[in-house]
Amino acid sequence: MPTDPLTLGQQLVAVLEGGRRTSTYKLAVMVALLDLAVESVPDDPSAEVPIDLDDLTDRVMAQYWTQLRPLSEKDHVTLRQSRDGRGVVFDALVTLREHCSTPSLREMPIESAKLAAPEAYSVAHTKVKKNLVRYPLHLLQQVGTGSHECFLYDDAWMGKASTRAIADHGNRLVLFAGVCHTLARLAPLVKPAFQLAWVDDVRHMNRDILDDGPDIADHLFGTERVSLTRPAGILAEHFGNDCFYCNAHLRTSRHVDHVLPWSRVGIDGLANLVLACPSCNTSKSDVLPAPAYVIRALDRGQDVIDALAGEIRWPSQYGRVEAASHGLYSTQPDTTPIWLGAKHIQPLKRVDFGRWDVEL
Ligand SMILES: [Zn+2]
Repeated sequence: MPTDPLTLGQQLVAVLEGGRRTSTYKLAVMVALLDLAVESVPDDPSAEVPIDLDDLTDRVMAQYWTQLRPLSEKDHVTLRQSRDGRGVVFDALVTLREHCSTPSLREMPIESAKLAAPEAYSVAHTKVKKNLVRYPLHLLQQVGTGSHECFLYDDAWMGKASTRAIADHGNRLVLFAGVCHTLARLAPLVKPAFQLAWVDDVRHMNRDILDDGPDIADHLFGTERVSLTRPAGILAEHFGNDCFYCNAHLRTSRHVDHVLPWSRVGIDGLANLVLACPSCNTSKSDVLPAPAYVIRALDRGQDVIDALAGEIRWPSQYGRVEAASHGLYSTQPDTTPIWLGAKHIQPLKRVDFGRWDVEL
């Protein structure tokens, strides 16, 4: 039996409400787990699913990476993510950033930093992974006081920063039977709630510097997070300067659209990016596109996308787009709104992403 969504949903809400957090790390871990669940949906909804701890660590690091950039070009203020402004995870990323000679973090996704400074990345990664196992992964399911019941994965072996213990457990955690499928199904509801709590925590942790209330939600999770100038250039050069959705020629105003909405899957890789006219981009917003669009984006070809991404030193993430498409469309209910084109939204029709013959 897959896990009951209502019960799991209540447990996740309890994680959100479980007392004051001293840092945002539990929230980052939970958002990373939700994204990984969407990309790992098994064919059998009731299956156990292993989550690789290296992957999980990469995802947590990627979330904090863009959040390290200063609030504005002028003041160089970096927002605190823990009450005392310190923490192994954030400090490791600051050190990694010092190894990367880039003028702006918005111009350099962490995957590019990994290529530019592999040793520094590896050092940071090891520190972050051990810390995640010791604290947020170990404590995530402790809601309320007293003894706790694991509802996502077994955390009994966690709680110490030991490379040996991690290796002994296969460098992974295992989502209990049915949990992955249910997490993926709940992700569209739960992920925004965790991000809202994250914004709220950061606001509390930085009260002294945020009195005028700049839009930190946008700073942490908005479109300002990353500069898509380089992907836009290479997409126009290779695929033409036209809207991917309606084919309109793009003259003065050109948007870069995340085919699978960033809010859903957090994928900035080139495989998930297309050029769009303002009208299509605005009307599509955070709605899931018709599966045929995703298939057309993937049909540009992994070799082509990987090569173009390499040219601009940008991540491709082709495999992630494939995996997330499968997870998103196979777990959402039939009533889910689907974007078919400008101002044309209708409920989801099922597609099988294993087959490539789906027409609009
Ligand atoms: Zn268009």
